[in-house]
Amino acid sequence: MSLENNLTLSILAKAENEGYGILAQACYDASMAVGLVRAAERARSPAILQIFPITLEYAGAPFLRFLVDLAHSASVPVSVHLDHATTAEALEVAIGLAEKQGIKFDSIMVDASHADTDEENISIAVPFIKRCNAQGISTEVELGRLEGGEAGVREITGEMLTDPSKAEVFMKQTGANILAPCVGNRHGSYKTFGGPQWKMDLLETLCKQFKGRVPICAHGTDELPEHYWTDMIKLGVTKINVNSWCRDPYAAKLSSGLASKPFPEAQEEATEHFAKECEKWMKLFGSAGKA
Ligand SMILES: [Zn+2]
Repeated sequence: MSLENNLTLSILAKAENEGYGILAQACYDASMAVGLVRAAERARSPAILQIFPITLEYAGAPFLRFLVDLAHSASVPVSVHLDHATTAEALEVAIGLAEKQGIKFDSIMVDASHADTDEENISIAVPFIKRCNAQGISTEVELGRLEGGEAGVREITGEMLTDPSKAEVFMKQTGANILAPCVGNRHGSYKTFGGPQWKMDLLETLCKQFKGRVPICAHGTDELPEHYWTDMIKLGVTKINVNSWCRDPYAAKLSSGLASKPFPEAQEEATEHFAKECEKWMKLFGSAGKA
């Protein structure tokens, strides 16, 4: 199956051409998914709904079917992405659902960045990437290694910055479509590291190198100051992963609401709160009104 009409790739290609970023929001439950789609429709913005393998493990095939139905029946383009599929088991589950049941993510991050060398990273990733492509699923890979951890992502140490001179060969040999570079970005909190210190010159080099060919994805976006978002979009980053910024206000609203209100009322309030948070990012990223 060709990737020509792949939804994640077409959303990112349009964003790059028109100079805006795409909110790739981590969702952990159905209400968050509903909230993200609501935000996208209201803002007339494309979006990427992403989950971690732990959520797929928790809720299984029917939940993925629900997410895909929900996203694909939206009145604006919303694709469904599996973030950080780091183990053979997680990849087997996700690709197996496509191969055996026809329930397909639009894109999957085949993350072998725990490998000790690029060669090992490539050899782990390639067989899975081929199977994804055969199902029309595009793939994201990480070159280098991001430190840190966040809900749904394993804790990892030993940061390795992405080497632009190796990136071309890496993308060619993996056959992947989207690059998640390591430019000093980290998962989780930057507090113990004196705040975020991304190497914007390295990010710029990579964006220029892959312009019009390979969309660049930003990971590790907790606690970033506002200028980071506009700066990275200016450089050409299109897929922007967001996790706690929208999740935490949702969780807080849901738990406070449940203390005093009937479940459906608390759920609706929390969903709406999440949707409003998502809309803020769509406006900041310049994607509002683009769909
Ligand atoms: Zn990540």
